[in-house]
Amino acid sequence: MVAATCPLCASRESVEFPIFYEFRGDRFEASECLACEFVYLSPRPTDAQLAQLYSDEYFLHDGADCGAHSATDYETAAQKGSVKFPEILGSIKRYRPSGHFFEIGCGMGYFLDFARRNGYEVSGIEYAALGTKVCRERFGLEVTQSSFEQYPERAAAYDVVFMGDVLEHLVDPLAMLKKAVRMLKPGGIMAVEVPSMFNSLTGRLAVAGYRILRTRKKMPMPPYHVNEFLPATLWAALLGAGCKEQKIIQRIRPPHMITLRGSFAEKAIKKGLHYPNYVLTKGLGIFGDRLLGIGVVK
Ligand SMILES: [Zn+2]
Repeated sequence: MVAATCPLCASRESVEFPIFYEFRGDRFEASECLACEFVYLSPRPTDAQLAQLYSDEYFLHDGADCGAHSATDYETAAQKGSVKFPEILGSIKRYRPSGHFFEIGCGMGYFLDFARRNGYEVSGIEYAALGTKVCRERFGLEVTQSSFEQYPERAAAYDVVFMGDVLEHLVDPLAMLKKAVRMLKPGGIMAVEVPSMFNSLTGRLAVAGYRILRTRKKMPMPPYHVNEFLPATLWAALLGAGCKEQKIIQRIRPPHMITLRGSFAEKAIKKGLHYPNYVLTKGLGIFGDRLLGIGVVK
């Protein structure tokens, strides 16, 4: 197991970030880059481990050793997620209201279908066979089954490229963001949505607490999120990928939509802090648990 360099700035200087994951006997600890403050898992999962993590059997399985979701939960989650579509697409439309919209990791196609109904010509790629099938059969969408790493690059082809809940999973996020940016026409829009668990009040409090206690929290899921973005590092990633103008919009899930995991005390703290957090994010645009990064390409 080799310690990773920072996936954003390649620095080798890092400090502990107090969380870790375990997967089939291997331990993945988070580090925070001293140069750019990016938080990432080190070591990175190997290709063989990624293949296991994203196999349909594992990813769609809902046993106690927690694959991400069962197939039915995955679909329910996709439908539930649609409440945020108008806000996300609205932000993108302010920059580019029409043209070819390409989604990387389009899941079951709900967002891509929404973009199509709102005036874009759309296409996408999806890694999972099940998602690809649903995109094609239910929505008649033009979707290719592929990882973005394997997907052939098409120069200056699109007006908007969108990645939702993708960049935190990619082992080389900057290289993939650069590739996505090269696929945009001049003046095109790179839009990236990511979770930002450690930007919320609960996340900040937890990190401070674990650091004081000099302990690391074992995360109760497999190492799907190999990167943890904060507003400053998402901004830096868009800049590094070749955008000339960046904006980070902080969002927050409504209190009834948060997932509560952990002990009774952890759940109570999380729920108790989510209400003031909700007010602060809605009112001032700070402490959001979701980030939408928009970059305008040169
Ligand atoms: Zn760095």
